[in-house]
Amino acid sequence: MPTHSFTPTEKTRLRRNPRRAVYDRELIYEVLDEAMLCHLGLSIDGTPCVLPTIHTRIGDELFLHGSTKNRMFKHIADGAEACLSVTILDGLVLARSGLHHSMNYRSVVIFAKGRIVEGVEEKQAALKALVEQIVPERWEDARPPSPNELKATTVMAFPIEEASAKVRSGPPIDDPEDEKLPVWAGVVPVKLCSQPPVTDHAGLDVPLPDYLANYNLLPRVTLPA
Ligand SMILES: Cc1cc2nc3c(=O)[nH]c(=O)nc-3n(C[C@H](O)[C@H](O)[C@H](O)COP(=O)(O)OP(=O)(O)OC[C@H]3O[C@@H](n4cnc5c(N)ncnc54)[C@H](O)[C@@H]3O)c2cc1C
Repeated sequence: MPTHSFTPTEKTRLRRNPRRAVYDRELIYEVLDEAMLCHLGLSIDGTPCVLPTIHTRIGDELFLHGSTKNRMFKHIADGAEACLSVTILDGLVLARSGLHHSMNYRSVVIFAKGRIVEGVEEKQAALKALVEQIVPERWEDARPPSPNELKATTVMAFPIEEASAKVRSGPPIDDPEDEKLPVWAGVVPVKLCSQPPVTDHAGLDVPLPDYLANYNLLPRVTLPA
């Protein structure tokens, strides 16, 4: 049974602004589920590399997918440790002083070794979750992957065990003497949102599905079962 909170390790203990550290599993899972982008970082032959990717969470694991030729996955399969990071931007923080400008955010960092998902059922479930991370209810509508597509796709699972979150919220923090300056200061809230869908040019008159007509990118949190 997973604990409610992750234990900070040498790697995940926040040193800078530790009051912004959160190790609560529920919050970390909420951020992972709401975020649309994940960055996967690792060192390849001594060179650091960080690439953006789609992610999804099932239970206590984070799943990524890519081509079987994916260079990063090959190194992870050989035992390289990865660092995964997701960020949700919540606001632009405008202070009176230039250097006190900041952002409000919720971000998560995970250190983990990954495993290649070999079982067909688990692979299908992860691919479904990855598609539904983009648009819920899409999987049932789209053509299922062919055996060749499945063969050409690697799915990697990362245990969410060594994880941290950092959260900044609230107004700017100016030096007290700057508060008298006649400069506007405050927060511009930011929310990722979608625009109306644009039909492609295949020429078929397919009506817009309900799940897209009602689609937006506001939080759609799925907490663990
Ligand atoms: C949108 C955004 C903008 C930012 N802008 C800046 C900036 O301009 N300048 C700046 O210095 N910092 C910025 N940060 C904070 C930055 O991510 C680091 O937390 C900070 O730079 C401290 O780095 P460090 O190596 O000293 O961290 P340390 O505190 O030494 O990190 C130790 C461990 O704490 C955890 N940790 C650290 N940062 C995060 C995080 N953001 N999320 C989750 N876990 C974390 C990791 O497990 C890490 O291994 C920003 C963060 C976000 C999300």
